[in-house]
Formats: sequence, structure tokens, C-alpha cells
Amino acid sequence: MTKVGIPRALLYYQYYPMWRTFFEELGAEVVVSPPTTQAMLSSGSSRVVAETCLPVKIFLGHVLSLVGKCDCVFIPAIRSVKRKVYNCSKFLGLPDMTRAVIPESPPILEIDIDVNRGKRVLYQAIYRLGRHFNWNPLRVKQASIAAWQAHLNYQQLMSRHGLTPHQAIARISTTSEAEPEAHPNSLASVRAAIAVIGHPYLLYDEYVNHRLIHRLEQTHNRVLTPEMLTVDELESATVRLAGKARWTYDAEVVGAGGHYLESGADGVIGIMTFGCGPDSLMMAMVRRYASRLKTAPFTSLTLEEHTADGGMLTRLEAFLDMIYRRRRRQAEVCV
Ligand code: SF4
Repeated sequence: MTKVGIPRALLYYQYYPMWRTFFEELGAEVVVSPPTTQAMLSSGSSRVVAETCLPVKIFLGHVLSLVGKCDCVFIPAIRSVKRKVYNCSKFLGLPDMTRAVIPESPPILEIDIDVNRGKRVLYQAIYRLGRHFNWNPLRVKQASIAAWQAHLNYQQLMSRHGLTPHQAIARISTTSEAEPEAHPNSLASVRAAIAVIGHPYLLYDEYVNHRLIHRLEQTHNRVLTPEMLTVDELESATVRLAGKARWTYDAEVVGAGGHYLESGADGVIGIMTFGCGPDSLMMAMVRRYASRLKTAPFTSLTLEEHTADGGMLTRLEAFLDMIYRRRRRQAEVCV
């Protein structure tokens, strides 16, 4: 059985259940790289120039960790998943970049996704990927239908039940038929509802963000993330805030930021990385919107390779203190 390696980085958090279903339906075995470590980050960093963004360095570290553990590694080049809205250039060249800087990488299994080129080209790309495992076009079509359904179920699981990708993937991976539990902190006595916005590869990689979500939950805050919203909620908030989508994944920043500022979160934290052009523009838009609405405080945390726990925690604590004080003042006014 062919072993397909999937790096636990970048778009893994958005699409893993879909990718896994596709490959397993075609008879392959899927191997996922382990959670990020310092060694992975160092090995990824050593292959590229210092200016490369942190998530790409981490991605390369994950590919390196899969060397010798799989027969091929899946690296899609996702140009566009929505008409006339394009992805950050790093995603477009990911297979070529990996090939160039990691010559010892297992053979790269790639697919070019660009919906602007029409359905026919998209279906041909899916078939070219699937035929590595099965030449029968019908089998590939069935696998792609099952994969798409897995993706829809995954999105619905997160938005309906307020689950993070980790929780939803764990839920999908168990055979239990039981109803998913509500988000753990939704039932606890909550000090504040804090929205954390940004790309899933920053929000859910605990090594990169110094366990931000865990720390917020531990201090009895309810954490709200972009995946807990429906696609419609994210897209309509993006239009209200920015007029239209400008980058493929801007709903995770602009849409989620706009929605949570409008819908009563006590505070919004934007997570971005140093050197990311698209995110610095999107965060600036959310910041301006927050200043205009004045419904909730907003802050952004910029992560980089050398971000230390201490500095980030100090900023987080100061922000939370301000939110708790604000909530107390509001409660006093209402009495
Ligand atoms: S959007 Fe920013 S952080 Fe993400 S891959 Fe592109 S440059 Fe890197």
C-alpha cells in the first residue's frame, strides 16, 4: 500500500479530512508528520533565506520529518479556490520550492488548484492526482465526491459545535456515533469571550503560538475562532468590512475579525507572523474597523522564529486585564 505523507502545517488544518478521505478511498495509507518542534523549525529554517515567513519554514521542517517515513509527500499548489480571488504567492510555488530546497524529499505528489481555469481543468487536475493510485476515472471521481463530503462535514462539525480543527479531527477519527460535546469552555463560568483570528496554521500550531488558546481557556475565557463560524457568516462579514475578498484566505482574518467585533465578543486578538504582507494589510483593516465600531478592544500579536513566551504573555495579560476591567465597569453601569 502506498504511504502518502501529509505535512502537519499550512493548509493541513483546513483540508486534512478531505485529503485523507481522497487518498484512503483510492487505497493509499496516510502518514501525518508529528506536531511542530524546535528541531523541525530549525531544520526548515536552515533551508531558506531568513526573510521567508515562519509558516513556510515550519512547513519545510515537517516535510523533512517525513523523509524515510512515506513513499511520497502531498504538496498542493493552491492558486485560487474562489473566482478572481488569489492566494498568497507562497502557496502557489510550494511544490517547486520544496523540491528546490529539500532535494532528499520523498517524491512530491502535487495538484494545481485554480478555479479560474474552469471546472474541466479542475477535474483533469484531480484525475491526474488520483491516477497515481487508480487509473479508473470512475473510482477517482467517487473518491473526490467522498473527499468533498468529508470536507463539508468537517466544516459543519466545527461551526455547529464550536470545535477547533484538532477537536473536529479527533472526533472524525473516532468511531463514536455520539453527538459531539459542546466546546469545553462554553459551559464553564466564563470571564470573557475572546475571539482569536488568523490563519489556522498560526492559531492551532501550539509550538508557534506558545499555546495561546490553551492559556486563554485555562484562565476561564471562552475562545472563539474563525472555524466556529459558517462560510456564509465569514463571507458576509468580509464584504461588510472590506467590500470584497482580496486574498483566498482573508475570511479567516477580515471576515472573522469583522464578525466578532460586530457580534459581542469581549475582545479580539489577531495572530500574524513577521514578514507576512497580506496579513499586515488585513490586520490593519480589522484594527481600523475596531476603532470605528468601538464595540470591543482589538490587539494583534506578531509571531516570529525568536518570539519568546515571556513577551507574548505580558502583552496577553495586559490585554486581558483591560478586558476584565471593561466588563466590570459595564456590569456596574447596568446595576
Ligand atoms: S499568508 Fe503570510 S504567513 Fe501565510 S504563507 Fe503567505 S506570507 Fe506566509
